[in-house]
Amino acid sequence: MSDQNTLRQTLARIDGRGYKAYKDIAGSYDFDRFTLFIDYVQGDPFAAPSKIRVRVPQQHAQLPDALHTNPVRRVALQDFLARTMQHAIRRVVQGRRGTGKSGLITIDAGGQEILERTAIRVTPEWVEARLQVGLPASGRSVLGRQAEAMLCTELPEIVGSGLAWEHLPQRDGQEFVECCENQAHIRSQLADRELVAFVGDGAILPRASGASNRPLPREQAVPFTAPAAFRVTFDLPNPIPTPDGPQPQISGMGIPRGVTLIVGGGYHGKSTLLQALEQSVYPHIPGDGREYVVTDASAVKIRAEDGRRVEQVNISPFISNLPYGRSTTAFATDNASGSTSQAANIIEALEVGTRLLLLDEDTSATNFMVRDARMQTLVHKVHEPITPFLDRVRELYDTLGVSTILVMGGSGDYFDVADTVIMLRDYLPHDVTAEAKRVLQEHPSRRQAEAVQPIERITPRIPQPESFDPSRGRREVKIDAKDRDLILFGSDPIDLQGVEQLVDLSQTRAVGHAIHLATERFMDGKATLAEVVTAVEEFFDAHGLDALDPFHRREHHPGNFARPRRFELAAAINRLRTVRMQQV
Ligand code: ADP
Ligand code: MG
Repeated sequence: MSDQNTLRQTLARIDGRGYKAYKDIAGSYDFDRFTLFIDYVQGDPFAAPSKIRVRVPQQHAQLPDALHTNPVRRVALQDFLARTMQHAIRRVVQGRRGTGKSGLITIDAGGQEILERTAIRVTPEWVEARLQVGLPASGRSVLGRQAEAMLCTELPEIVGSGLAWEHLPQRDGQEFVECCENQAHIRSQLADRELVAFVGDGAILPRASGASNRPLPREQAVPFTAPAAFRVTFDLPNPIPTPDGPQPQISGMGIPRGVTLIVGGGYHGKSTLLQALEQSVYPHIPGDGREYVVTDASAVKIRAEDGRRVEQVNISPFISNLPYGRSTTAFATDNASGSTSQAANIIEALEVGTRLLLLDEDTSATNFMVRDARMQTLVHKVHEPITPFLDRVRELYDTLGVSTILVMGGSGDYFDVADTVIMLRDYLPHDVTAEAKRVLQEHPSRRQAEAVQPIERITPRIPQPESFDPSRGRREVKIDAKDRDLILFGSDPIDLQGVEQLVDLSQTRAVGHAIHLATERFMDGKATLAEVVTAVEEFFDAHGLDALDPFHRREHHPGNFARPRRFELAAAINRLRTVRMQQV
C-alpha cells in the first residue's frame, strides 16, 4: 500500500498525457481515515467509469454495533449508508469537469425498497463503499490536477459526511434499520398467524403517478384502515415513533390463507392494493407509505404475457386438447397466447415454490379466468382446451396449500370458490364475505365445474447447461442489464416486462450474472430448476453478491448488484429464448 502523496505524485506526473496513463494509479492508498482502492481504471473518458472502493475502519466510522448485529439489520444499515453516501456526493460534487464522464462520482443507492446490495459493505472491522468515478480528461488527455481534487479533496469530504456516524443523521439511521427489522418480524410471523399478507392501518398505497414509485402526497390519499373483521395486531421488536410517542404494536388488515377476492367498482383502488401487496415482498423505506405492508416472501404476481417463450412446461392442469393434438404436458412455444402464457406463469411459479399467487383481472386473459354457464352451453368442454383458473383455484389451496389473492370486479362466479371477499369502496376495504355467500345462494351460477382430473404434480424440469451462451463477439462472457426489464445475455435478449416483482436495475444485473453463475456451478444436467435456484440462494447467503463479480477477480467490486429473489431468477431463465429443459 502507498500513501496518498504517492497518488498525488503519480497524478502530477501523468498530467496532460494520454488517457491510458491513468492505468498507473491502480492500486491502494492509505489516507488519514480510510484506504482508497483503485480497482479498475477505465480505458477512455467515455467508457464505463472506473471502480474504486473506500474502506473506513470502524475506529473512525464508529457505526453502532447494534445497527449491524444481525443480517436484517446489516442489510438495512448498508442500504441506508448507500443513500447517505449518495446524498454526500450530490452535496460535494459540483457537476462535471471535462470530457465524457469526467468528474462524475456515483454510488448505486436504492429506490423505495430496501435490498441487499453490493454498494456498501459493513463488517465489525470496517465499512466499505464501492463507487464509480469518471477520471477527468480534456479531450483524451489526463487532467491530473482535477483528478487530484476529486480523489484527494472531494472524496475524503464525501466519506466523512457519508459514512462517519458522527456526521450522519443518526436518528434517521436508527429508525431506518428498526423499521426494516419490524417489517421482517411481521413477515416471519405471518405463517404462524395463518396469514399471507398484512396491510398496516395508515398505510399510503397509491403512488404519485404511473411513472413514479413514490407515494401520493398524504393530503391526496385515503390512508388504509382495516375492516374490523380482519383486524390483527403485531407486537414489534422496535417501537414505531409517532407524534403521540413510541408505539410498540401495529394494527392492520391480515389477509388469511386460502382464496381471497378483492372486489369493488372500477377506480375504487383494487389494483392499487394488489400492487402494494406484490411489491411488499420487499421491505420499504420509512416514509414510503407501504413500510407496514408485508406480504409472504414467496408471493408471485401472475399475469398474461402473450408472446413469451415457454419451454417444456406441463400446463395440462389448465390447458389440454389443443387443436391437432398438440401436447400440453410438455408445452413449448416461441409465442405463447394470453391463456397459455398465464398457465405457464402459474406452473413455473409453483415449480420453484411459491405459496401465494397474486392475480389482477386487468392483466389476466379473460378466457383463462372464467367461462360462464352460457358459454359452457354454447361451446362444449370437449372443444374448449382451457380449464379456467376458477376451477383450479380451490384445489391449489386445498391440495397444494397455495393461496391466491385475486382482484375480480367482473365475475361473481368466483364467490363460489372464495374463502374471503374484501370489497374496496372509496379506497377503503370492507368485509363482504357473508354477503357474497348470500348472493351465491340467491343467484346460483349454474355453471359446471370443469376440472376433470386433479392436478397430480407439478412436473420438475432440468435446465440444460449447454443451451446457455453468454458469449458475444470476442468476449466469452458478456452480460448486460439494459434496463429494469431487459437483460442481454450474450447476444440473447431476455424480456422481463412481464416480471413485475423485479424492482431495481441492479437486481436485473444480478439476475443476468446469476444465470451464468448457475450454469457454471449448479447446472449439471441433473439438477432441477428448483434445485438450481436454491443453490444460487445458498451461494448468496454464504458468499454475498460480491461473488457475482463479472471480472471474475475477487478484488474487483462492481458495486452495483442488488439481490433478486429465486422467483425472478427462475423467471429470467424461463424467458431466455435459447433455453432447453428436460422434464423429470
Ligand atoms: P381499480 O383497480 O379498482 O379500478 P385502481 O387501483 O386502479 O382502481 O385505482 C384508481 C385510481 O385511484 C388510481 O389513480 C389510484 O392511484 C387511485 N387510488 C387508489 N387508492 C387510493 C387511495 N387510497 N387514495 C387516493 N387515491 C387512490
Ligand atoms: Mg384495476
